[in-house]
Amino acid sequence: MNLRVGLGFDVHQLSEGYPLYLGGIKLEHEKGAVGHSDADVLIHAICDALLGAANMSDIGFHFPNTDERFRGIDSKKLLAEVIEKIKTKNYSVVNIDATLVLERPKINPHVAAMQKALSEVMHISTEDISIKATTNEKLGFIGREEGVTAYAVALISRS
Ligand SMILES: [Zn+2]
Repeated sequence: MNLRVGLGFDVHQLSEGYPLYLGGIKLEHEKGAVGHSDADVLIHAICDALLGAANMSDIGFHFPNTDERFRGIDSKKLLAEVIEKIKTKNYSVVNIDATLVLERPKINPHVAAMQKALSEVMHISTEDISIKATTNEKLGFIGREEGVTAYAVALISRS
């Protein structure tokens, strides 16, 4: 089995008046993430991890933020396209491990819903999608609740 690993990282600004999409679901919160798409930082990190593992550049290359087609788009659609792209090189997803970094809201109560949403897009088991969350101990832009970041690692295999 030909195994490959990839790393993804993303950051979005948090601001009042925007919806907060994380891991393919909408969370109730007084601030949301700012971006060209729905600004789902977790999905974007996962997309970059998958593209990186397949050595297929990054999310900005495939879905440029200057392209009106991607304005406000549901990031689950981008993830579905990424899965199709890596499939053209005969890769399929083995597992994902991701970490969200933000002060609020609490992520743990929503992890199961995120895993379910992402498993339906990636066609893998929720058991193969790990989502963790940590705060930034009130330090820096994350600590001031001005932004949210996500890290993801993806393992893919070539059949
Ligand atoms: Zn992003």
